[in-house]
Parts: sequence; structure tokens; C-alpha cells
Amino acid sequence: MNEIFVAAHHYQDESIIREADLVADSYRLAVEAAQSDARFIIVCGVRFMAESVATLARPDQTVIHPVADAGCPMADMITREQAERAMERIAAATGKEAAPLTYMNSSNAIKALTGARCGSICTSGNAHKIMKSFLNGERSIFFMPDRNLGMNTARELGVPASETCIITAADLDSARQLPPARVYLWDGFCPVHRIFSPADIEAARNEYPGITVTVHPECDPEVVVAADSSASTEGMFREIDESSWGSVWGIGTEMHFVERMKKRYSNKKIIALHRSCCHDMVKIRSEHLDRIQAEIRANPDGPIQGTIHIDDEERDNARAALLRMVELTNA
Ligand code: SF4
Repeated sequence: MNEIFVAAHHYQDESIIREADLVADSYRLAVEAAQSDARFIIVCGVRFMAESVATLARPDQTVIHPVADAGCPMADMITREQAERAMERIAAATGKEAAPLTYMNSSNAIKALTGARCGSICTSGNAHKIMKSFLNGERSIFFMPDRNLGMNTARELGVPASETCIITAADLDSARQLPPARVYLWDGFCPVHRIFSPADIEAARNEYPGITVTVHPECDPEVVVAADSSASTEGMFREIDESSWGSVWGIGTEMHFVERMKKRYSNKKIIALHRSCCHDMVKIRSEHLDRIQAEIRANPDGPIQGTIHIDDEERDNARAALLRMVELTNA
């Protein structure tokens, strides 16, 4: 049994990827890292990823996040208090409490609220399936924090724009009554994916006729509509892997992933639609990993810098929301 398990997100730098036991998207990171036998799990990704692993890990496992301020700007765009107030406003507009459907890219406090209100977590890879199951229910959906993933998924499922409603922080302080809607969306966004534009896609199509363009669903809806497909990082990986020799791909996601795809598939032409870096992801460097591994080996029973601690009630509720996602994904 390995004492230490290193889990890394696809957007990490190559120096981290080389050291990792698992390289995955946020869904597989949370589910598979927590299933490892190791006593110590080091999560090389942003903070919410380490929190999710810690929420699902066994009590005898220690989950470590190497750099405390490697956070996700999108996850920080909504607080628990704002989410609770938004849900009150939705209940006032619809007469019923909404079902919270929360993107994995959120704080543990928001995940815990989701679990406490019988909602679910989703990722970009399973949002379609999970939103569909919630649309079959009686409650309207409150999707947070990424308006683009929520909007793109609702559109794919045939929800007209007129039945969606974006809620901003300013709305919580205004007297405006929210309109009734099937899907309410918090106004959060990913700065890394918001950079992509339809003009990037047009430029790629002009330069490489016949190119297949795939973008992340955190991109703006007009970018997703202009692309040939939208997919999670894991989904893009599969699409490229299964494509034919010599195929040409335009990719709209974080640049470290695109650079790795270029090196890995030298028999295919892969271009970045735009070079866009998640600066939080790359705060973790190999020296941080080396330092933690040395610390564990020197004193495995001592306190390890970067250990994630989660309050019991928050863990139980966040866990319920994460397990609901797993159950709906496997249904
Ligand atoms: S790519 Fe976007 S959503 Fe992902 S961690 Fe970076 S800022 Fe957050």
C-alpha cells in the first residue's frame, strides 16, 4: 500500500502531472482519490477540489492541499448567506423552495447547504444528466455558481431562455420580485473560460478549414453554440483520443491541458483557440509537493501543513450532496 497518493487536476503543470498517481477532472478527483488506500492524499488542484476529497475520504485519511491560496475565483463568487437569500427570493416567486443544483466548483459551505436542502452537486461532465433528473421534479432549480454551465445545460435540455432567470448579488438588495422560472442561475463565471469568443472560433475555422472545435461548457453560450461540441476536460480528452490520425482540433479550455494534448497526440493537429491560464491552478509547484512528501516521511504522525479540516456538520451535508451526484450519475 502506498502511504502517499498524489491526485492532480488536468490543468496542473507538467512537473506535477509527472508525479501524480491520478490525473483527472474534478469528478474523478473527488470520487477516485478518496477511494485510494493511502493514508495521505495530496490534492494538486484548487481548494474546492481538496475539500471535496476530504469530504469523501475515510476518517483515518489525511487530505492535504499544498498551497492555501490556490482557490477558485468562481467558487468565491457566492457565499452561503447569498445562496440562502437567493433561495428565499425564489421561494417567494414560485411558492416552493428551489432544488439547489451546485457545480462542483463551489465552496464546501455551499455544498453543505445543497445537501441540507436535498439538492445535488454536478460537474461539467454530468450536469446534463443531473439537471434532467431535477427538471422532472416539481421544484424549480437554483443552479450555482456558474451561470454559463447552467445556461448551456438548460438550453441543451430544451428549457427556453424565457424560463430561466439570472440572479445577481445586486438583486438580493433590491425590491425587485423575481419572475417565476424553471431554472434560476447565480451570476458567477469562470474568468479562464469567459475569455473565449465566437471570433476565436471563426479565426480558427478560417485558418484550418475542416477543424473540429470543442469548448468547455463554462464558456459563454454564444461560444458553445458556435463550436462543434462542448465537453468537460475529461470529455475533450476522450474525443481527441478517439479521433482519427491527422484530425485537426481547436480547443477552448485552459492552456496547460491543451499543451499536454499537443504533446501527447503529435499525430493530430491541436490548437488553442486562445491561450488562457488558470493562475490559481499553477500556484502549486513541484517544490510544494516535495516539501509535503518530505514532511510526511519525517514525521507521519505530526501535523502536516496544508491539512484540510472540515467541521462535522458541514462534512455530513456536503457529503450527502456529493453522494447524490454519484447516485444520479450512475443511475
Ligand atoms: S479554470 Fe475557472 S473554474 Fe476552474 S479553477 Fe480556474 S477559475 Fe476556477
